[in-house]
Formats: sequence, structure tokens, C-alpha cells
Amino acid sequence: MSPNIFRKVILCLVCTSVLYIAGCSAVPFTGRSQLMLTSPQEEAQLGEQAWREVLSQNRVSNNQKYNAALKRVGESIAKVTNKPEYKWEFKVFENTEPNAFCLPGGKVAVYTGLFQYTSNDAELAAVVGHEIGHAIARHGGERISQGMVQETGAQVLAATVDGKSALAVQGIMAGYAVGTNVGVMLPFSRTHEYEADKLGLVYMSKAGYNPAAAITFWQKFGQVSSTGTVGEFFSTHPMSEKRIEEMKAYLPTAQDMYRTAPNKKNLGESLK
Ligand SMILES: [Zn+2]
Repeated sequence: MSPNIFRKVILCLVCTSVLYIAGCSAVPFTGRSQLMLTSPQEEAQLGEQAWREVLSQNRVSNNQKYNAALKRVGESIAKVTNKPEYKWEFKVFENTEPNAFCLPGGKVAVYTGLFQYTSNDAELAAVVGHEIGHAIARHGGERISQGMVQETGAQVLAATVDGKSALAVQGIMAGYAVGTNVGVMLPFSRTHEYEADKLGLVYMSKAGYNPAAAITFWQKFGQVSSTGTVGEFFSTHPMSEKRIEEMKAYLPTAQDMYRTAPNKKNLGESLK
């Protein structure tokens, strides 16, 4: 390694470390520390903006049963998350796609298409808990922060390759982008899925739903996604044996939380 390149590498590492020290956060229950350069307030603001857009583009369902179920389950879960600053909202959208999400700040949406996979409140709690888990673990903020670091790293590289040909600059940049995409972004999104699964188990259990229902729900979901019916939600939530195994491994911890929940509902109301 030439001294020049060595200097650039050091500069990059220092830059990344400074950013790292500047913003660190820990995920509740899993304790994983995460790079965080956004504030919860900024994320909530982005969530509000996105929610307004989502509301203008989707039709709120008037299915009484689904709306009542989401309100019942969503509010039970919201209560145990200890997030008084969240402005919770729960909406069922008329859409055949099986989809659900929770935006930063507590805006929860479930599409009518998801209800064909939920047999009872507890299974709905599994998926709503998972989505709320993504929001509370601030996975969106973490992704933005990772993007900011990549961007900054790329800028540092661009600034330090002065004097080289434009082609070389492009090459280095492309190489760096591939490196960061494969090395950082992909494993992290898998990490996020496992983490949301775990948090989903925590919140549904604390809300008084039997966490065993998460296994039945995600297994059912996994079978559907393996048949090739791949929608947006299936592609962003790839199911795997490993995910089920991880959930099963965490189940005893979740069962302990369920046992001490003040308001046990077991599987809750039937949604069939
Ligand atoms: Zn997820």
C-alpha cells in the first residue's frame, strides 16, 4: 500500500469513527448498538410527511371487523411500548396486497389483503408487533444514517483522489459503492428483520397475546411466499426457516413476558 493510499484509508476511518461517536443508540430489549445520525424527532417528522402521502394515496377500508380488530390489537400493543411521544394512528387500507407497516412516530397501516392470513387477534398482533418493532428500533433512522456515512465516505474518497483521471475516480467510487452495499446494507436489513421479529414477540406478549401465535402466523406466511405469490411485503419480509428457528429460540423469553402480562387474552377474538 502506497503512503498516499494509506493516508486516504486512515482519513476515511477517522471520518467514520467521528461520525460513529457522534451518534450511537441502543435498541430496546436486544441491546444492539446502532449508528444514529438522525434524531427521533426528525424521524417522526419524516413519518408524518410520509403518512400524509400514504393517506392521500390509499382508501381507508370501511370493513367494521378489520377496523375494530386493528384498533383493539394496535392500541393494546401501543400501550405496552412506553412511547408517550408517539402519535399513534391505526388505519386499514382497502388493498388486496398482504401488507402492513408502521412509520416512525406510530402511524400503523394494515391492508385488507393481510387479513386472509390472520386467524385471530394474536396473529394480527404478531405482524403489527413486528412492524411497530421496526419503528421503535428506529430501523428507518439507522438506514438513513448508514446512507449518510456511505455518502460522506464517498465524498471523502472523491476529495482525496485529486490528480487522478476521471475514469479512476469513477472506478474507485463504483468499487466503494459495491463494497458498502454488499458489506453493510444487506446484512443490516437481515439484522433488522430478526430484530423486528424479536420485538414483535416482546410487544405482543406484554400486550397479553400468546406469542406462540407468531410462529403459526409467520409459518403460514412463509408457505405462501414460497409458492411464488411474491408481493411487496413478501419481498421486504423474506421468510426463512432461520427466522422461524430464531423466533422459536426466543419463545421461552416471550412466554415469560406473556405469563406476567396483566391482561392476558390468549389468541384474542377470531378473525375468521
Ligand atoms: Zn419486517
